[in-house]
Amino acid sequence: AYLGAAIRANEFLVYLQPKIDIQNECVCGAEALIRWNYKHRELLAPFRFIPYFEADGSIVKIDELVLHRVCAKLKEWKDNGQSLYPISVNLSRKHLEQPQIVSRLTGIVDSYGVDHGLIEFELTESTMAENQRYLIFVMNELRKRGFRISMDDFGTGYSSFALLNEMPLDTLKIDKSFVDMILEENDANKILIILRHIISMAREMGVNCVAEGTEEYKQVLALRELGCEIAQGYYYSKPIPVKEFEEKYLK
Ligand code: C2E
Ligand code: MG
Ligand code: MG
Repeated sequence: AYLGAAIRANEFLVYLQPKIDIQNECVCGAEALIRWNYKHRELLAPFRFIPYFEADGSIVKIDELVLHRVCAKLKEWKDNGQSLYPISVNLSRKHLEQPQIVSRLTGIVDSYGVDHGLIEFELTESTMAENQRYLIFVMNELRKRGFRISMDDFGTGYSSFALLNEMPLDTLKIDKSFVDMILEENDANKILIILRHIISMAREMGVNCVAEGTEEYKQVLALRELGCEIAQGYYYSKPIPVKEFEEKYLK
């Protein structure tokens, strides 16, 4: 009820954070991230409310609201002849457990006439903890329909590598905690070895790597050297309102 009222009052905002191709220094996509403009007074970050909505299952409404907004924008950009980048949308596990999830998501995207290849679904490793076989089936179905699949926060779970073998993936997002370690004098050497192997392993599997939480130029240089294709982080841009994204990044 609470959530419904907030949705009707238009309190949810979708922000976009650009993904930068660091080999060529150009934008190549964006991630959609939810914000709650609580009673139009205070902007709440996801950690303040997502856990509650996950607990009661209403997170599904948030995820679908974000997908609707993203598709509406992609349609508008296409109609205006503007540049189109793939946009990623986060899906919670609650969402994947919904009946008819594949046709629901496909239905939303198709209602805007948006090319499936422009939508990437991000799932975290922890999403996969239970019910794995079923979730892998769902991801395969989404992928068959031309959507992209991304593994978020890679490396933080305990089954990262096992999952790599089973999940149909287009993108692997290296968790910020690894990207942070590039800056730590003590661990720098080891972390470079770990990152190099994650990145080359991904490449051999035909999977793109995105480095999350890239805040400093030193990290960009290291990542570029290691062959990582894409970075997302405050060094390039924080998540910003859609309007600002359009002004800065759309042609
Ligand atoms: P995530 O999907 O891993 O998103 C990346 C988070 O890292 C975002 O936090 C982003 O603002 C933050 N970030 C990006 N670059 C940097 C950086 O350079 N430094 C630092 N310190 N942080 C950076 P945000 O927007 O607070 O979102 C947190 C999490 O909430 C997301 O993590 C995602 O798991 C969840 N979330 C956000 N929107 C949605 C949504 O629509 N649906 C669902 N199910 N989850 C969402
Ligand atoms: Mg994400
Ligand atoms: Mg992440």
